[in-house]
Amino acid sequence: MRTVLTLAELESHAHDPRSPSARRQRRFLCPLCGNDKPRDSAHRSLSLNTDTGVWICHRCGESGLLGEYWSQPFDHQNLRSQLIGKMAVTSSASHASRTTLDRRFDWRKVWRGSSRLLGTPGAIYLEHRGILTQFAETCGVRFSAAWYGRPAILFPVNNADGNLVAISGRFVDGCRSSKTLSAGRKSLGVFSASDLRTAPIISIVEGPIDALSLALCGMPATAMIGTSWAEWLPASLASKLVYIATDADEPGDEAAGLLRQALLPFACRVLRLRPHVGKDWNDVLVQQGPCALRRLLRDFTVTPAKKGERQMSSLPSNLHISI
Ligand SMILES: [Zn+2]
Repeated sequence: MRTVLTLAELESHAHDPRSPSARRQRRFLCPLCGNDKPRDSAHRSLSLNTDTGVWICHRCGESGLLGEYWSQPFDHQNLRSQLIGKMAVTSSASHASRTTLDRRFDWRKVWRGSSRLLGTPGAIYLEHRGILTQFAETCGVRFSAAWYGRPAILFPVNNADGNLVAISGRFVDGCRSSKTLSAGRKSLGVFSASDLRTAPIISIVEGPIDALSLALCGMPATAMIGTSWAEWLPASLASKLVYIATDADEPGDEAAGLLRQALLPFACRVLRLRPHVGKDWNDVLVQQGPCALRRLLRDFTVTPAKKGERQMSSLPSNLHISI
């Protein structure tokens, strides 16, 4: 079970107030391993990097990011996160005076101050949805404790040039009102779990978590953040095999038909990939598990594309509709 820890809790009188504090790498008694061990230095199995806030217990194997570090930028180790961070700064300068949407809530500032996912409530939420924390981090997903004042998972929305144009936020505080809230101009971009430029096959989904679900199981994916797409998207997919993997509901089917029309002039081969259980591809991942979804998608991602198409036709008809 994942547990969120704070430095205050580790240093508290009730826990381990005498942990040596002079070093960058500190050691604490681990509150997750049980309280029946001797409370001495030999049993300080939890190791904390005070620069990054990342902790790991060498006895029980749990790890995470201390609560005090959630709002600090994470700018080491993860190259992709670093690149996205730089893009955010660059595009922040060029769009500084833009739009009334951004005026009241400085979303770029919140994005720059966001943390990595590991050890946050965002990671716990994604784990419940079947998404590995490390995988989500490599796709640029981050966490903020203060997205419109609430804890949320942040999905970067980039334009065709890879510049940040918006953030799609998914709240993780369990409040029923407004589960998601975006900032910036999301209509200008997509959240991509895969590199649009290099993938010969791409699936287009509605939500960022659907994109993570498919990409995690081997299908390159990008999310429109809704049922309408950025104007530049069809041209950027020229000549590719495109699976329209929108939700299995009326708006999803309608969007699939319109998107197909938009893609055809760009010599795309377009097929519908419709969830066969639940409403969306995260439902499939949660209900059937990653192994089943991976097996299912394996045939779709085989190249050359023509072979993939032939294989599709042998699948149950409720799984896909060729449109
Ligand atoms: Zn432990």
